[in-house]
Amino acid sequence: MASKIEEKLYLTRFQAAEQSHLTVIDHDICLTKCEEKWCTHFCPTDVYRWEGTRMHVGYEGCVECGSCRIGCPYGNIHWVYPEGGKGVVYRLA
Ligand code: SF4
Ligand code: SF4
Repeated sequence: MASKIEEKLYLTRFQAAEQSHLTVIDHDICLTKCEEKWCTHFCPTDVYRWEGTRMHVGYEGCVECGSCRIGCPYGNIHWVYPEGGKGVVYRLA
């Protein structure tokens, strides 16, 4: 049985939607107010990557844990489920 998150991620498949279901609402807030870039810490699959002046969102790897709905201290991430049938698919093991 898988135990570590890295092992569990091997048990997932992704069917990426064409449009991101995750949106950084205001990139200036990330740049000027959020020194810690918290989303790069709390996302378990490293969806958020700081690229110097802008937050890159690799939505294709999102496991839909929902952390960024509540984790961004500025409420700066708009989160919805991916469009029907897309996104992560879990297999039990
Ligand atoms: S936690 Fe929120 S405000 Fe901070 S960098 Fe991430 S999206 Fe921007
Ligand atoms: S829902 Fe979870 S996995 Fe997806 S981007 Fe947010 S923190 Fe990362």
